[in-house]
Amino acid sequence: MQSSVVKVAHAVPRAYPVGMCTEPSARNETLLLGCHLSIAKGLAAAVDAAVDLGNTALQIFTHSPSTWQMRSLPVEDVERFRRRRETSGVRYLAVHAMYLVNLASPQETLYQRSIDAMIDEVRRAALLGADALVVHVGHRMGLSQADAARRVSSALERILWETCEAESAMPVLLENTAGAGTAYGSTFEELAQVLSLVGSPARVGVCLDTCHATAAGYDLSTDQAVDRALDRFDRTIGLERLSLVHLNDARHPIGSHRDRHEHLGRGTMGLEGIRAVVSHDALRRLPFVLETPKTFDNDTEADPTNLSTVRVLRAQVDRSRACAR
Ligand SMILES: [Zn+2]
Ligand SMILES: [Zn+2]
Repeated sequence: MQSSVVKVAHAVPRAYPVGMCTEPSARNETLLLGCHLSIAKGLAAAVDAAVDLGNTALQIFTHSPSTWQMRSLPVEDVERFRRRRETSGVRYLAVHAMYLVNLASPQETLYQRSIDAMIDEVRRAALLGADALVVHVGHRMGLSQADAARRVSSALERILWETCEAESAMPVLLENTAGAGTAYGSTFEELAQVLSLVGSPARVGVCLDTCHATAAGYDLSTDQAVDRALDRFDRTIGLERLSLVHLNDARHPIGSHRDRHEHLGRGTMGLEGIRAVVSHDALRRLPFVLETPKTFDNDTEADPTNLSTVRVLRAQVDRSRACAR
């Protein structure tokens, strides 16, 4: 299985012999690419790890995502992180909010707690100089879709209001979900409904997770399918609201509603789908953050291979376009 990804890395020189096309990128754009990395060894160590991988983007949690307790961020750690990032090539930083947040909850205590937690999450992300905070909006439980949209939008209004001071006014990105159970936000229509109810369009956008989209029923496995899905995204949400792509292959079939991320090229999207996404004109300038499994067979480190797959696929398309001109 691993060899299918590695083979791609060797496909470029075979397909494009040195000298055949000298321009490595048809458009000379920086590929904003990185992966979600742990802060277990400290915030600054996550930047170091991103640099070691040659990444230009990074996503982190600022605390354990499965507990409400948020350890405070010591000033010296924050400063070290920001200094390290300034001298690194990491141009895009996303912070992912905790998983416990449920902005659609009909239960008042959980709803209020989620709003308070999100206010803290935004402030922490802003403190670190993040470009965006990503959140799964939550589960609507017994609420209708329309009621859930109203609930989520009121929560967001409150969060944006409480963090409107200049130093915290960073964008919150709603991530599409796989749609398991009553998870809200698996369809573009559901996200569009929330966005239409929230003011401050500059502060609320969307993060498109390709595994979740596949699980929710969007085919992203070919050029044509990606075109169709993005056209639907544009007609419902608007591509101008899309700020970040979580680039993950999906272990399960289209419409499975099962959220299992797979190594790039090994899942339902396959290499063709990953290639279509990373080279699509509507997406190629956006940051791509991988949340793929960290190892192959619980052994070999996987990030370098998955990142290399993206770089090679993107270079293949850029070179073929440059040579076609
Ligand atoms: Zn997520
Ligand atoms: Zn994601």
